[in-house]
Amino acid sequence: MNVVVLGGGYAGVALVGGLEDSLPEDAEITLVDESDTHLVQHLLHRVVRTPDLGDRIAIPFEELLDRTTFRQSRVTAVNPDEGRVELEDGSLDYDLGAVCLGVRTAFHGLPGVEDHATPLKRLVHAHRIREDFLQVCDRGGRVVVGGAGLSGIQIAGEVAAMVGGDSTEGESTNGETGEDTGQKQTSAESGGSESERGDPADVEVLLLEQKESVAPAFPAPFQRAVADELDARGVVVRTEAPVDAADEDAVVLVGGERIPYEQFIWTGGITGPASFDDERKRVRSTLRLGDRTFAAGDAVEVVDANGTLVPATAQTAVRQASVAATNLTRLAEYRRDGGGFEPRFERYTYDPAGWVVTVGDGTVAQVGSSVVRGVPARALKATIGARYLGKVGRVQDAIEFAHETFNTD
Ligand SMILES: Cc1cc2nc3c(=O)[nH]c(=O)nc-3n(C[C@H](O)[C@H](O)[C@H](O)COP(=O)(O)OP(=O)(O)OC[C@H]3O[C@@H](n4cnc5c(N)ncnc54)[C@H](O)[C@@H]3O)c2cc1C
Repeated sequence: MNVVVLGGGYAGVALVGGLEDSLPEDAEITLVDESDTHLVQHLLHRVVRTPDLGDRIAIPFEELLDRTTFRQSRVTAVNPDEGRVELEDGSLDYDLGAVCLGVRTAFHGLPGVEDHATPLKRLVHAHRIREDFLQVCDRGGRVVVGGAGLSGIQIAGEVAAMVGGDSTEGESTNGETGEDTGQKQTSAESGGSESERGDPADVEVLLLEQKESVAPAFPAPFQRAVADELDARGVVVRTEAPVDAADEDAVVLVGGERIPYEQFIWTGGITGPASFDDERKRVRSTLRLGDRTFAAGDAVEVVDANGTLVPATAQTAVRQASVAATNLTRLAEYRRDGGGFEPRFERYTYDPAGWVVTVGDGTVAQVGSSVVRGVPARALKATIGARYLGKVGRVQDAIEFAHETFNTD
């Protein structure tokens, strides 16, 4: 039996790890990805301020795989029922497979936006944003970030911290939202990698969101805390400000208002894999996409066992991968052994442990119904980042990452 996993992001790598443990030894597992490295994407925005981090969050697949064969190629089409994948350099037939191809940035056909904005999906984007931003720091001007989801919030916070746009008097150390200790931290002291650049008076970071709040897919208390943190860190936020178009000088809002910019970063939406005509196919809680195929992660819209539409995040991708691994293994055993009805499949239930975002040197976390900022939130974020790096085999990097975040010996 041959099992093929398409895409080696959070979902794909977690799924392959599960299958290596659960499938019989004679099952062949192949992972296909267009890149030769697994990208720890939830730390990507940090590369803009800390370029050296780029090497450590791009992990060669060879280091992650045990008995799985890696094939570097771009997927161009998938037939989930027949078990056939078209690749840029050939094709693959599989007995069972999984689609974990993630998403691409959606420009929604808005005139000029794709031409003039830089998205944030791969390392090359983070490095380009950094180069462009350093020029803005030299000349002064406005950076517009379009879209206030997880990536937009975090990249806005990151560039604001680079200009010293952080206007807080210090970070809360008692874990309560909005309470400060009164001690000012510099970027370097609090884990930032370089000294501040430019004059905060000359550089504006403007975050635009078409909905009523930042982090629109998340609970209201988290939204409020993130908005407060952005404000405290010097990011100007405009909600209910839908982008309509862009040209080389300005972003144009619906209604015609022109907002001049020196740099334009676009984090305004996601679209499905090109191999599915940009569609994020909807799957139910068993994550079954076709007769021979399951799916996990951002690539698909998942409706969980309670009928909830699940947000696209790293956390949900990893948890879905575990369900997909179980179900692929059950189907593999059934197809090998034969028998009457198909097995009963495990169902995915969305049960978030909480949410954490960084806004420059600040962090906001929601755990249960509590929202915290400051050191406790930063500790949580560092633990998640370090734990993930440790889990995928980069133990030394995980330790260094935790040390850098807390600036400890
Ligand atoms: C800047 C930023 C910050 C974020 N912060 C957070 C956060 O704090 N918390 C959180 O939970 N989530 C965060 N996210 C979202 C999170 O990164 C995604 O939800 C997560 O990466 C989804 O995992 P995935 O495995 O579905 O897809 P991905 O991680 O995107 O992996 C998809 C894989 O498929 C490969 N691939 C794609 N197309 C093809 C093709 N045609 N052929 C072959 N291979 C292909 C890619 O190379 C990639 O390896 C952030 C995202 C960004 C961009």
